[in-house]
Amino acid sequence: MALALVTGASRGIGRATAILLAREGYTVAVNYHQNVQAADEVVNLIKASGGKAFTVQADVGDEAQVEAMFARLDQQQEPLTALVNNAGILFTQSRVEALSAERINRVLKTNVTGYFLCCREAVKRMTLPLGGAIVNVSSAAARLGAPFEYVDYAASKGAVDTLTTGLALEVAAQGIRVNAVRPGLIYTEMHASGGEPGRVDRVKSMLPMQRGGQPEEVAQAIVWLLSEKASYVTGSFLELAGGK
Ligand code: NAP
Repeated sequence: MALALVTGASRGIGRATAILLAREGYTVAVNYHQNVQAADEVVNLIKASGGKAFTVQADVGDEAQVEAMFARLDQQQEPLTALVNNAGILFTQSRVEALSAERINRVLKTNVTGYFLCCREAVKRMTLPLGGAIVNVSSAAARLGAPFEYVDYAASKGAVDTLTTGLALEVAAQGIRVNAVRPGLIYTEMHASGGEPGRVDRVKSMLPMQRGGQPEEVAQAIVWLLSEKASYVTGSFLELAGGK
């Protein structure tokens, strides 16, 4: 079977995606940044249900660390055919007028440079005849702008969307599909990083579906986009935002 790399897979959407991919038969490289214990737990869970997985530490915004991570993947028996660019960060809710250059650059480094670097290394390896598939985890914020909360984060996701469109066109003839998902309000620990752990429950009534989403609901869409069932889909965006 094939090898899949999921960045930021120690918790949230990445974790749910890693677990589902392993169930589909992929060997999963569980990338994390700091929380080795949580990443180990994901690997142990996968192994306990008969799947194959291993952890791979790297800050996706650091070029040398990304290169070292992919060099580790090269040592696996299976070729890399799937990448989920998922590792993302945001900081405390704030208006644009209060944003520092340091904060903006930190967000862009992880959410944009990190996605570019992992795409670059994956594309080098997803050669024909196998090719491969990439799913970039964007956000509904790319469309909505996240005013009064984190426009810097929303803008980083706008860049992810443009990366998805451009790269999909560049590599379509090489047998590599590149798509994105745009989740809306998903129950994960990310909202605590924004300073409001209960954010999903506060705003869910404003959504057409009147509820937040679960990480597993996003994972299902990602796994479908990576699969042969989506073999004619590239440069596409799947909205997972409860209708918003
Ligand atoms: P989360 O629960 O905050 O988890 C973030 C993950 O990213 C963790 O595994 C973390 O690893 C990892 N990470 C952070 N910085 C990293 C770095 N520099 N290098 C490698 N890994 C790093 O996030 P989530 O809510 O699941 O979000 C996942 C993706 O979905 C993000 O791209 C986010 O923007 C997007 N999204 C989320 C929502 C939502 O409502 N939750 C909505 C739209 C889009 P450690 O734990 O090891 O630090």
